[in-house]
Amino acid sequence: MPNKKSGDQKELCSFCHKAYEETGPLLAGPPGVFICRECADFCHTLFQQEKRTRSIKALPFDEIPSPATMKAELDKYIVGQEQAKKVVSVAVHNHYKRLVSRVNRDDVELDKSNVLFIGPTGSGKTLLAKTLAQILHVPFAIGDATTLTEAGYVGEDVENLLLRLIQNADYDIEAAEHGIIYVDEIDKIAGTNQNVSITRDVSGEGVQQALLKMLEGTIANVPPQGGRKHPEQQYIQIDTSQILFICGGTFSGLENIIGRRLGKKQIGFRSGLDADQLDEQTLTHCLENVETDDLLEYGMIPEFIGRLPVMCSLMPLSEDDLVRIMTEPRNALFKQYQRFFEMEGATLEVTKAALRTIAQKAMERKTGARALRTVVESTMLDVMFDLPDKKEDGNSYVLTPKIIRGEESLFGRSRKKRKKESA
Ligand code: ADP
Repeated sequence: MPNKKSGDQKELCSFCHKAYEETGPLLAGPPGVFICRECADFCHTLFQQEKRTRSIKALPFDEIPSPATMKAELDKYIVGQEQAKKVVSVAVHNHYKRLVSRVNRDDVELDKSNVLFIGPTGSGKTLLAKTLAQILHVPFAIGDATTLTEAGYVGEDVENLLLRLIQNADYDIEAAEHGIIYVDEIDKIAGTNQNVSITRDVSGEGVQQALLKMLEGTIANVPPQGGRKHPEQQYIQIDTSQILFICGGTFSGLENIIGRRLGKKQIGFRSGLDADQLDEQTLTHCLENVETDDLLEYGMIPEFIGRLPVMCSLMPLSEDDLVRIMTEPRNALFKQYQRFFEMEGATLEVTKAALRTIAQKAMERKTGARALRTVVESTMLDVMFDLPDKKEDGNSYVLTPKIIRGEESLFGRSRKKRKKESA
């Protein structure tokens, strides 16, 4: 352990050659060798950067999770969406395999395959993209296409998406260049005029072009502080050719185009229903059969479709899915509440009927699993408010439909009654 040296004026930092008066205390190494705090910090940063760069560069092929391993990891967090998880596992595995082949050899350039997610609100598009980045330990950033505007207009520059990724990579550019960016609401801007939202300003075309360039691969100049570019500024340069872009959108109405192409008879056949029994839900399941031509008919411009070659449909979540989402994933809502109860020395159980009541309430909102958090949190507010004061240590509590509907309180009921409910 080096000695802390603070008083001797002749001693200088061996790295910056500044004296103790200027640098503050020096750490002593072997005789005559010292280092000041600033140089030690700097060395630490360099070592950290080097470590991160090495870990990405050396990503060996056999360490990229196989599609099956990746899907198994996704299963821990994402309920349902089996086909989407499979498609995306293969695509992402191939994407990182390509990166490794680029690092190891320069002769063959493989095209990258950005991904397009199509599916209703709250079906897990963002969650899927975020979880992929987590599994692969790569930086991740989310952006919303509708807030992007061309330089000079009020809103966000397309480069801000890259800045967010760089920030999330702790300004390690090389790590950011292997990251994932999720761009939501792509259907609102990637279309020809008929589908472009009327609230958008005249910059639609410019944003499309800027995004397309990024998707294709370009060296982008990113202002380090965010905000608008100006001529005297220093830029961070980042190569986007290896960044995996996942774009997502609800594409509402697309199911009608697919339905029309397939014909009612065929959809009925696939879903086991008669043509006149087809409802909204069945039509939405047509999304599974989406093809490039449907997106063209929808109004997506061909360049966008060309740069998002992997298409992945996410299905609307059913009531059963919502019940599972509340209890099964690693970070499921009720697992979190159960942890709170444990921290207070009590336990919490939720009856199947109570879960179903919540799922039904959430379904009414038509925002998929997004509604779950709102419904559960509003229900649990009173419980969490009273928990520290009203709970009895060692007690187990049972959440029932009546408590969910606000007709009864979780606390203050007899032990016998609670026991009966949990049986
Ligand atoms: P989208 O991007 O499709 O609108 P999100 O991924 O943002 O939907 O979903 C919102 C929230 O709902 C997520 O953070 C997650 O808690 C939950 N969620 C949505 N879909 C699923 C799913 N398939 N499995 C588990 N949780 C989900």
